[in-house]
Amino acid sequence: MPYTADSRRYDTMTFKRCGESGLMLPTVSLGLWHNFGEVNVYENCRAIVLRAFDLGITHFDLANNYGPPPGSAERTFGRILKTDLAPYRDELVISTKAGYTMWPGPYGDWGSRKYLLASLDQSLKRLGIDYVDIFYSHRYDPETPLEETMGALEAAVRQGKALYAGISNYGPETTGNAAALLRDMGTPCLIHQMRYSLLDRRPEEGLLDVLGEKGIGGIAFTPLAQGLLTDRYLHDVPDDSRAADRYSFLSRGSVTEDLVGKMKALNRIAGERGQTLAQMALAWVLKDPRITSVLIGASRVEQVEQNVRALGNPGFTADELGRIDNVLGDTRITGVDSPEEMLS
Ligand code: NDP
Repeated sequence: MPYTADSRRYDTMTFKRCGESGLMLPTVSLGLWHNFGEVNVYENCRAIVLRAFDLGITHFDLANNYGPPPGSAERTFGRILKTDLAPYRDELVISTKAGYTMWPGPYGDWGSRKYLLASLDQSLKRLGIDYVDIFYSHRYDPETPLEETMGALEAAVRQGKALYAGISNYGPETTGNAAALLRDMGTPCLIHQMRYSLLDRRPEEGLLDVLGEKGIGGIAFTPLAQGLLTDRYLHDVPDDSRAADRYSFLSRGSVTEDLVGKMKALNRIAGERGQTLAQMALAWVLKDPRITSVLIGASRVEQVEQNVRALGNPGFTADELGRIDNVLGDTRITGVDSPEEMLS
């Protein structure tokens, strides 16, 4: 069936300015790290992406290594673009990244100019487009001069292969330095993509302050802690869940009895707010004004539909916030900085 976008797609989604830029992003964005590789069913991938767009999700996030195999999520999205979304290209914000292992040898990893620019060319081919909207350095490379990595982002923008530059998984200090370099080059840092959720609050230890000071937008990845902050695991580990998926990083062992008990308690608080646990977890991340968007993942259409409804009850009372903190105590799931390495 040929696709025609829903004419009401902008009726309910809220859009927020990304830092001090001119770019507005939907408060809920969709990431294609999991569930969009060659190993997944194409028709399901297509259904999720198109439903997301119909619900006002204009921002789709990729990286060179998303799959598996690496590169295949970009190919999947490229196919959807070609068959369905091509007429809507100017309504889309498509991002990709380079920084984790992508090809063998010294030029397929980390933060050199050689790697970043070659990788972007490969991404554009897989996506079948001339430019991405945002190109990210996926992680800080302590061995490469920051000037070189930021220079590669700036070159991508100057060459017209990206409209904006972004960074991901950088600490507060390197974020400040990267922002200063990019500003001097005339390509301000648009956005910082960081792991942030009820179960990982490290951005509160300085990073969010830097984003506020520098006028950089924040986009939070794994805001649902890969599904732990949903009703997915309240009773068992379903066979079709990420924790049971052999290609995923989330292990069955992450779903401990202690954690499930806490999730059940959070689920009750969410219920009192008229929300699901997932909706409350997303609203909690979005309450910080420095967060422009939450970057969700989804394995099925219904999850996207449920998650965009998180926007229906965005506020929290002090009592609710206190009760949430009391339930969680110091429970945190930080893991490695970016589990994406495991997939490449
Ligand atoms: P989430 O924390 O949103 O987890 C998504 C998973 O949660 C889904 O696949 C699904 O799991 C489950 N889920 C989502 N909604 C619901 C719901 N309403 N009810 C029940 N279960 C639900 O995010 P991801 O970990 O997928 O990451 C999101 C994006 O962030 C990535 O696609 C990527 O773009 C970006 N990212 C960036 C990184 C970086 O280093 N820059 C690192 C990691 C992610 P199930 O499959 O079990 O159904």
